[in-house]
Amino acid sequence: MNSLLIEAPAVAIAAAAGLTAYGAVYPRAQIFGRTICRTDSPRKLAITFDDGPNPAITPKLLDLLDRYDAKATFFLIGKFVRECPELVKETFARGHLVGNHTETHLNLFRLTPMQIRVELRLCHDAISRAAGAPPKWFRPPYGFRNPWVIPAACELGCQTVMWTLIPGDWREKPAEWLIQRMQPIGQHAQRNSGNGPDSPANGTGDVLCLHDGTHRQLNGDRTRTLAALEHWLPRWRDLGLEFVTIAEAVRAPAP
Ligand SMILES: [Zn+2]
Repeated sequence: MNSLLIEAPAVAIAAAAGLTAYGAVYPRAQIFGRTICRTDSPRKLAITFDDGPNPAITPKLLDLLDRYDAKATFFLIGKFVRECPELVKETFARGHLVGNHTETHLNLFRLTPMQIRVELRLCHDAISRAAGAPPKWFRPPYGFRNPWVIPAACELGCQTVMWTLIPGDWREKPAEWLIQRMQPIGQHAQRNSGNGPDSPANGTGDVLCLHDGTHRQLNGDRTRTLAALEHWLPRWRDLGLEFVTIAEAVRAPAP
């Protein structure tokens, strides 16, 4: 028998599986629907936090952000929102945006369309009640998508947000390691601040993905995330970066 007849479908299946994996995992892939991955100006940095609210860290983080007049976007887990609605209300009241990060932080890639809709809807309702307004932004846990995830977010009026940089602040590493991993933000800003022919006048800026909580339990330790931001916020400000919410990140280019 011609071995091609056997192998060709296998190759096609492997290619399709590879494409599916790319679309599901790669943060800037658009195969399963449009996502926001960048800001619309190299001067705008969108700092985002996942897996909160976290009473152990979020209040300190809000104070730190205030010190630098920084606005950020928090992707919240519904079951934690129910446990500390006041913290969600305060986050929103202080000028930050809150977004949907599902009810229990499951890997949506493995769920049925109905299960996905329930995960998103429960978190949507919890945030709407706590913040007094429905969220307009959604980030899938682990960044995993399948053909039903982004349409489910759209049904709730939410746009899906990914990132350009995810330094891995959930790892058990010292703050210095995390500070190093966040260096690309400043490097991009410096590269894009020139006025020469190579400077991207209509370039884009970073969306940074950090974590103020952990999906496993409330009150997770994120002091290293806080320390790394304490290090970088004044330096990024001195480089001329503006710290914007995801809504401001895609509004219009900064002048
Ligand atoms: Zn998460």
